[in-house]
Amino acid sequence: MTDATRLTAADLSRHLGSGDLSAEEVTRAHLDRIAEVDGKVHAFLHVDGDNAIQKARDIDRARAAGEELGPLAGVPIAIKDVIATKGVPTTCASKILEGWRPPYDATLMERINGAGMVMLGKTNMDEFAMGSSTEYSAYGPTNNPWDLGRIPGGSGGGSAAALAAYEAPLSIGTDTGGSIRQPGAVTGTVGAKPTYGGTSRYGLVAFSSSLDTPGPCARTVEDAALLHAVIAGHDPRDSTSIDAPVPDVVAAARQGKTGDLTGVKLGLVKEFAGEGAEPGVMAAFRDSVDALVKLGAEVVEVSCPHFLYALPAYYLIAPSECSSNLARFDGVRYGLRVGDDGNRSLEEVMSLTREAGFGPEVKRRIIIGTYALSSGYYDAYYGQAQKVRTLITRDFTSAFEKVDVLVSPTTPFVAFPFGSRTSDPYQMYLADLYTIPTNLYGGPAISVPCGLSEGLPVGFQIMAPTLADDRMYRVGAALESALGTLTPPELELS
Ligand code: GLN
Repeated sequence: MTDATRLTAADLSRHLGSGDLSAEEVTRAHLDRIAEVDGKVHAFLHVDGDNAIQKARDIDRARAAGEELGPLAGVPIAIKDVIATKGVPTTCASKILEGWRPPYDATLMERINGAGMVMLGKTNMDEFAMGSSTEYSAYGPTNNPWDLGRIPGGSGGGSAAALAAYEAPLSIGTDTGGSIRQPGAVTGTVGAKPTYGGTSRYGLVAFSSSLDTPGPCARTVEDAALLHAVIAGHDPRDSTSIDAPVPDVVAAARQGKTGDLTGVKLGLVKEFAGEGAEPGVMAAFRDSVDALVKLGAEVVEVSCPHFLYALPAYYLIAPSECSSNLARFDGVRYGLRVGDDGNRSLEEVMSLTREAGFGPEVKRRIIIGTYALSSGYYDAYYGQAQKVRTLITRDFTSAFEKVDVLVSPTTPFVAFPFGSRTSDPYQMYLADLYTIPTNLYGGPAISVPCGLSEGLPVGFQIMAPTLADDRMYRVGAALESALGTLTPPELELS
């Protein structure tokens, strides 16, 4: 019998359409798998089983009644816990939001529900999406299905691990500095960051508003494109949403699957040649570039001199925006309230709530950001970082005059053991060395599995110009057709 948890979303769509699997069967198979393995993996913070079964039955009924359904109707999905889901706990993996049930759905949830997809539950993450390992979740880390003693990446470690552990065929992540792509890379799955403004931020709990971008996570490039097509497109409720047609990413992925890249120019970023990367990661990357050349692609070396300043600029801009965005967690409006015994001032209650409710990394970011924005320092730190951001954007613009896409490893190192980078924040921040430039520019980028180093997955990053999301899907699918997908070892459940 077909094990529905091992199928891609594209396969599930075909089985559901032909009637040899029902949405209820598919949903139950995934809920059973979650019950079986999530005690080990801890990808989920909340499993919404009853609602999922209900929704699946509704879809089966609609299909039986001959209703016109979208391609992903009846396909299950897991949602990063930073996305507002009506009536369903949304914690951002923080104690400060424990017990909060949003009174509304994020725009992308409306689209996912409207497409007939079945939400299985909410996935674990670093608190408020700040981190690269999921170790900063207030509810305990997620374990990498490839090696349970290692990190699944972050901040969206739960969304990626759920895919690698076959708990869900698709999931949603958010990428501010790499939180979709880096977890994808270290779990051997696909993660795509759309063009900034291409997917709505309405109902995404804000971390750094000028960078935050929701996007699809999947086990294949085509599956990521199918989900991208559901969630992308203009939303008047998000003032930075782009009012332009969404490129046909599904057609691009299917074109890429044919394995022909004749005439496509790949740019190798000179400044990233070996910069900080493990030798095994660089080896897998170079082999993958060779594989793309065999498919007809041409390689051009390009210089992006300011990319090396992206990390420090990001670690001023993102904390600055976070210090402002997280001011709303004051013990009055949402979730936790500490010390409200009638004898304390409002200010004392706010301060006690924030002291108890935020974890160490979130506090570090708020402090850095508050400092960088304070009068007298604003120009020297935040203002300077914004100028660097402009220079990075110019690097991208001039690179894309010469090449169609830029390529690099997604992350300098494979999944690391728990605890090995938490004592030095800078070591953790380095995980995003290659992903952050794209966020500062606003373009799309995808991570596709490209082999193993020391038995652990390596990710290949493809960066494209803004609004040319289709290009990265085409090249990504071509790479996947050449290299195949990665299959993790079976989980030991004893
Ligand atoms: N790891 C980066 C950070 O800690 C990126 C996080 C993200 O993309 N949400 O800020």
